[in-house]
Amino acid sequence: MTATIARVALPVPLDKTFDYLIPSGQQPVVGGRVRVPFGSQQLTGIVIALTNQSDFPLDQLKPLKVVLDSEPLWQPPLFQLLEWTSRYYQYPLGDTLANALPSALRKGRPANAEIRYWQLTEKGQEQPLAALKRAPRQAKVLTLLRHGALSHDALLDQEVNSATLKTLAEKGWVDSFHTTAHSGHWPTDFAVTEEKPRLNEEQALAIASVNANPDYACYLLEGVTGSGKTEVYLNLIEPVLAAGKQALVLVPEIGLTPQTINRFQRRFNVPLFTIHSGLNDTERLSAWLAGRDNQAGIIIGTRSALFTPFADLGIIIVDEEHDPSYKQQDSLRYHARDMAVLRANKENIPIVLGSATPALETLHNARTGKYHHLHLTRRAGNAQAARHGVLDMKGLHLEAGLSAPLIARMRQHLSAGNQVMLFLNRRGFAPALMCHECGWLAECKRCDAYYTYHQHSGELRCHHCQTQRPVMPQCQQCGSTQLQTVGVGTEQLEHQLASLFPEFKTVRIDRDSTRRKGSLDNYLEAVRNKEYQILIGTQMLAKGHHFPDVTLVALVDVDSALFSNDFRAAERLAQLFIQVAGRAGRASKPGEVLLQTHHPEHSLLQALLYKGYDHFAAQALTERRQAMLPPYTYLALFRAEAAQSELTEQFLHQVRGILETSPLFEAHTLVLGPNPAPLSRRAGRYRWQLLLQAPDRKTLQTLLSVARPAINLLPLARKVRWSLDVEPQDL
Ligand code: ADP
Ligand code: ZN
Ligand code: ZN
Repeated sequence: MTATIARVALPVPLDKTFDYLIPSGQQPVVGGRVRVPFGSQQLTGIVIALTNQSDFPLDQLKPLKVVLDSEPLWQPPLFQLLEWTSRYYQYPLGDTLANALPSALRKGRPANAEIRYWQLTEKGQEQPLAALKRAPRQAKVLTLLRHGALSHDALLDQEVNSATLKTLAEKGWVDSFHTTAHSGHWPTDFAVTEEKPRLNEEQALAIASVNANPDYACYLLEGVTGSGKTEVYLNLIEPVLAAGKQALVLVPEIGLTPQTINRFQRRFNVPLFTIHSGLNDTERLSAWLAGRDNQAGIIIGTRSALFTPFADLGIIIVDEEHDPSYKQQDSLRYHARDMAVLRANKENIPIVLGSATPALETLHNARTGKYHHLHLTRRAGNAQAARHGVLDMKGLHLEAGLSAPLIARMRQHLSAGNQVMLFLNRRGFAPALMCHECGWLAECKRCDAYYTYHQHSGELRCHHCQTQRPVMPQCQQCGSTQLQTVGVGTEQLEHQLASLFPEFKTVRIDRDSTRRKGSLDNYLEAVRNKEYQILIGTQMLAKGHHFPDVTLVALVDVDSALFSNDFRAAERLAQLFIQVAGRAGRASKPGEVLLQTHHPEHSLLQALLYKGYDHFAAQALTERRQAMLPPYTYLALFRAEAAQSELTEQFLHQVRGILETSPLFEAHTLVLGPNPAPLSRRAGRYRWQLLLQAPDRKTLQTLLSVARPAINLLPLARKVRWSLDVEPQDL
């Protein structure tokens, strides 16, 4: 019997699917898109089942409007992964599926590589622009098309609107045509196009281990920067491509540099596509289609590339697997590394997680035998490991946060013609502006946070709600004019260095100084050309960039990480330390890494410095186990905010009640809170949170799946804004 009803997942924040009648002659498919009426609007949804039965009376069902796909968008393993992702991260299926699609497909564009182009007609070419003075939009289109045809989306990106194009088409000045990108399988003449270095023993062993088994297995490839991990990836991808299969390489947000892409492009003559946040709708769609239609040999991308369909995926690589950018921080809060492991499992292919500083979760999985642990211990090219040391800054006079011994070391390195890099994870001039007379601090009116003083622009800015205001001339409490800054930010450091080292040039590389597109690349280029001798950076600088002439790296303030509320702060500090240590120096110029702290005796710091990351990790894992923290337990964080603090707190109390009275709540399950969030007020809204801790994944997932519908029914659930973060990265 043919199905009469399509069950559709829609991109709405509701935990249910919707039934629609199938008009005769229409043939929707499971996993394909349909357009359906929903309230007063039309939505694009995904058919998840075809059936003859509905829980609703048939005469209440509306017919669907349009069937958009005649084939499913995803093959079964990927579709199952998406269903699993939706369940595990407690996010509605319709929203999850929409999240995994390029926006062009969400908007209903055809899922084939057909692209619409606009061009000038002969009449349009002859049109004098001067005659269009009164129609600037039309003149703009004619100007843009002077040099040849442009895609519809490229024009929209230039802020041309469809109505203008329509008018011009009606005048007969422009017309449109469609092209289809070549279809068909890419590997017609696969070859390795570059001479490969001879592998060292460890690399050869790692490659042989992975190649020994074409089925699913997860490998942790641990090796410092420069130990040859990328070379291993290339060697693993080669036989995959040679067999006509495809490879997916995930990199952190800042890791997708031209150098990285180049390495892969130089090695193989295969079509390579990248997927990242800088793509426009059409580019994103093309990359998605290239994966699905087997036109791409390799796809390199950031987090969201994980959900790209592939015709025949053969391997997944996750580089810098410990990087926090793999976890999405809003809407569907998935962890791309974890979902990549699951995807490899469902597709039954190998996956390699590479890092110099594996996440503690990953190390735990390697220690318990879930993952295979592969090591690269040597730096290729005989580069020497950096020396390191600790500077005890207790009682020392500081200039913009720099102690005299550090300044002296800097001078030595600089006079030798080398570069120096200073890390400070705090943008702006100083964290706060304080009154010297009464201690008053300039505070954001909308947040529970102090303004950051930005000297450069003469402003106070709140880094949490983005409000800014000019610096006040007087204390708002006592009227004194003696306002001074407290603490040190990157901007102040930059300022101070100019007077400490007038003979050397300083560059500051942080989110403020690299706002303009391309400015980061320009700075990096200038640093490599030695136009600057001193670099000031935040976390941003630690990744993906190699600076051979930087011989001294200093972490200016490690105490804030050692004593943070966030249980992952020490792990992050250790990762930053190893990472920058790996960036400094080269064969002929060994680097030096210095840490400034008031607590040189701190045991984690000692382990890290004198025994290395693995010892640090072992010790940190012991502490995590004692504290019942991940990876020994599984967490879920409820966040809620509202204009009224009491409502928010009350809502989370009710959530707590639902969790605790659940029959699934057992002895080893724990709820903590509600507690005020670390930033307890933001943009005028009060924020609270509630932490659920479970002994294993299964308990966490079942408990949440049962509790969530009940939470959704709470009247307060509609009055506060709330979200659920399964396995949160930041607490
Ligand atoms: P990682 O990815 O761990 O940072 P890479 O694979 O980029 O390390 O290797 C660092 C440098 O050493 C690169 O320039 C690479 O070409 C080179 N290299 C890697 N393996 C070898 C090898 N076996 N012999 C010679 N050079 C190598
Ligand atoms: Zn604010
Ligand atoms: Zn005052």
